[in-house]
Amino acid sequence: MVKGDPTKAARWPDNVCVRVTSHQDGNLAVHTNDDPDVVARNRDRLAASLPGLPVWLRQVHGHEVATVSPIQQAEITADASYTRAVDTPLGILVADCLPVLITSTDGLEIAAIHAGWRGLAERIIERTVTRFDAPSLVAQMGPCIGPCHYEVDAIVRDRMAPEEQRIGFLANREGHFRMDLQQIARYQLRQCGVEVLKEDDRCTACSALSDGEGHLYSHRLGSQMGKPEIRRFAALIWREVGLEVVSSSCPG
Ligand SMILES: [Zn+2]
Repeated sequence: MVKGDPTKAARWPDNVCVRVTSHQDGNLAVHTNDDPDVVARNRDRLAASLPGLPVWLRQVHGHEVATVSPIQQAEITADASYTRAVDTPLGILVADCLPVLITSTDGLEIAAIHAGWRGLAERIIERTVTRFDAPSLVAQMGPCIGPCHYEVDAIVRDRMAPEEQRIGFLANREGHFRMDLQQIARYQLRQCGVEVLKEDDRCTACSALSDGEGHLYSHRLGSQMGKPEIRRFAALIWREVGLEVVSSSCPG
């Protein structure tokens, strides 16, 4: 399925904002063993810096895409969210998987995707793109675990399409491969006619290892070091109210 023409230069609409948090914003995940009060405080502090309460998903490495209304109450189990609502940030929790943020170039529709290897194998990007009415879409990719730190076995590689197996995997030790999530996501987006305008090339594991200012969380690195990482950072996308916005008021 192809939407739009990826060969045409497209630009990110001024009224659509993106933000990626870091350890400075703290753990934002409730479905872990972290202190719920700490997570609630972190979520409140983040929400105060946004135009509205973020809509979080209960992410299950599946392929469900939820359409979100401005007065979302019940918890949603899905790995992608889509909305036309303004001031309704869509949040994806991450600690290695790839967050993909999509908007129509007219700034009327947005989506956020949790794309780990399972989501990519189950075509969650294509499933999300089909939600859009607009023909012209652009995307940004957030940080994820890089091929430098992401080794998978043949079972994972074999779940991908032949071309994705060719471009997204580097042979490593016997029967194992270094997987490049962004490379495969970029290919899938292009197959859907979605142009990627920005990629955050930070590897979550490299970032967590550095322990530097603004570092990210890495689930896999934590597991390798015998201390499973229960914290998650977030990637968010939202529409600012009013299409008449000419100069972006988006932070960052
Ligand atoms: Zn790395």
